[in-house]
Amino acid sequence: MASEFKCNAPSCSTLLGERVCLISCGHALCAEHGKEWFSSHQTCPICNRQVNVTSANFSKKYINERKRIALIGFNPSEILESAGVGLEFWQAQKNLEVSQVKNLASQRENVYREKVKQTEQAFYATQQGYLELKDHYKQLAMQFQHLQQQNTQLTQENQQLKSNMRSPQVFDPPSNRKIFALGEQESNFSTNKLFSGISFDTGSKPFKRPFTPHASSLFTPSKLNSS
Ligand SMILES: [Zn+2]
Ligand SMILES: [Zn+2]
Repeated sequence: MASEFKCNAPSCSTLLGERVCLISCGHALCAEHGKEWFSSHQTCPICNRQVNVTSANFSKKYINERKRIALIGFNPSEILESAGVGLEFWQAQKNLEVSQVKNLASQRENVYREKVKQTEQAFYATQQGYLELKDHYKQLAMQFQHLQQQNTQLTQENQQLKSNMRSPQVFDPPSNRKIFALGEQESNFSTNKLFSGISFDTGSKPFKRPFTPHASSLFTPSKLNSS
């Protein structure tokens, strides 16, 4: 069973057990971190002091077996000195644990603050985007309304034009007016009006009405003979 102490390496939280790297400054590492660090260093990785290293056994089983006889043979001053060293080690370890917890809390607080800041920025950006979209929508709605009005107006004009085209009294293309005018100049035949709806290629000559039984009474035999 392991002790209540943890390896002092910052990234390690292994509970110290049978194989402990005990450092003379009062710090301690698990066997793995101790071997790794002290193969190339002579300073403590926590306090950076020049140190000596001894191996120790922190397991509860070993301590329970040893605690009754550990200080046997020591005189009172040596017993007090040894107890003092043990208490100092315990206090240093607890201080280190507290400072590690504080650091962790501080790091988490910074992460939290940063996330709050990012969330706030994202919120403001979203809000800004929403307002821009709202504005854009307003403009589009106005344009749509304007187009709708134009469409209504054009539909009305279109209906009016269709209605005009269906009505012969109103529909009077310029070509008819020209023919009619020529007919009026050349003759007084009221029958010219009968052809006002038909376009004839008369060239430079004025249009002459063909003979029809309908209008035959208007021609005199002398006129027919002379032509
Ligand atoms: Zn470790
Ligand atoms: Zn140290």
